[in-house]
Amino acid sequence: MPRKNNQKLTKSKIEPCFGCGASVPKKNGPTHEYIGASAGCWELFGELLAKEYEEYNNPPAHRLTVDTYAAQHPGSPSKKSIQSVAIHLTGLHLMLDLNYEAHRATQLLNQAAESSQEYHWLEPPQSLGSLTILDVQDAENIKEHTDRVHIWAHTVWQAWQSHHEQIRAWTELLR
Ligand SMILES: [Zn+2]
Repeated sequence: MPRKNNQKLTKSKIEPCFGCGASVPKKNGPTHEYIGASAGCWELFGELLAKEYEEYNNPPAHRLTVDTYAAQHPGSPSKKSIQSVAIHLTGLHLMLDLNYEAHRATQLLNQAAESSQEYHWLEPPQSLGSLTILDVQDAENIKEHTDRVHIWAHTVWQAWQSHHEQIRAWTELLR
C-alpha cells in the first residue's frame, strides 16, 4: 500500500487533534467509541498499527504504541474510558518503570480488564506531552520505530506524573 506523501498532506486541511493536539488532517471519518481522538489522528493511528503488523511483524513495541496512544487520548469520563485510561497507564508503568516485557504486561493487563477492580477517573493533565504520533509515524525501520515509540511513551507517562502514585497502587493490586 503506498503511504501518503507529505506534500499531499500539507495541501489538505489540518486541525489539532482534540486529544493529543497534533496537527492532523481534518477528516469526517470514524473515531473510537471512547478513546478521545479526532478522526484524522485516529486514521494515523490505524496506519501506524498496520505498519507494525505488516512491516514489522507485530514487534514488542506494539504494546507500548497502543498504551501510549490510549493514554494520550483519555477522552471524557465514562465507565469504559475510566477503565481504559487506568489500564493503559498501568501498561506504561509496567513496561517503563518495572521493565515488564510486552507479553507479560499484556497478560497482567488482560487480567486487569477482566477483574472487578474499581477504577476511578483520573483527571488528565493540562499537557499530555510534547510528542505525538506525528513524531513516530515516519520512522524508517524497526530500530528507529522502537526508539521513537519508547521516547513518546516516556513523555506521555511523565505527563501523567500527578497520578503515578494511584497507578502504582492499582498495579500492586494486580501483581
Ligand atoms: Zn491525537
